[in-house]
Amino acid sequence: MPWSSPERALDELRAGNRRFVAGAPYHPNQDADRRAAVAGGQDPFAVILGCSDSRLAAEIIFDRGLGDLFVVRTAGHTAGPEVLGSVEYAVSVLHTPLVVVLGHDSCGAVQAARQAVATGTQPPGHLGAVVDAVLPSLRRAAEAGVEEIDEIVDIHIAQTVQALLTNSATLAEAVAAGRCAVVGMSYRLSAGEARTVAEVGTGGTAAVPAQAGPVGQPTA
Ligand SMILES: [Zn+2]
Repeated sequence: MPWSSPERALDELRAGNRRFVAGAPYHPNQDADRRAAVAGGQDPFAVILGCSDSRLAAEIIFDRGLGDLFVVRTAGHTAGPEVLGSVEYAVSVLHTPLVVVLGHDSCGAVQAARQAVATGTQPPGHLGAVVDAVLPSLRRAAEAGVEEIDEIVDIHIAQTVQALLTNSATLAEAVAAGRCAVVGMSYRLSAGEARTVAEVGTGGTAAVPAQAGPVGQPTA
């Protein structure tokens, strides 16, 4: 299998993002031949749990095509039961070796949660569920004295990585067995760069924010 290594999958994503940043994308796997080739089955090399923000389209910013990425998106990359199930499907059934949590600067979901805390009011409807899911990250940021929005975003990304491992035994077992890695990336809307802020299971050195706690360690 070409994508059996988490490190290889991560290298491929980073290479695609570099092409996108440089304005020199290949647009791989986007033609009729590829469409036909993957019609009978899929073998994506990465799961992307990204924010739903319209400027964060995974296949575009990582310069990939059909059958490459298993994408799950929610506002603020919040990870409720259906999201966890979707990630587990890719990891356990499709044997996808890499899970990326993709957040970004100026994230509206993080800002909405911050607003809710500041004003003591809950947003209407189901938006409250998004805010509630971001609150643990805000608490963590507050404990660390972090107030700048984009630093809070990075903490929220690292917190989501940790939450995935804590709440999904399937994912934690795959990471412990070396079959999968979980990486948090923070995207810059203007520059287009996806920077690694948390990394579990790759053997790489993680640029984990000090405030974010022990996300560099696999969760038992
Ligand atoms: Zn967002």
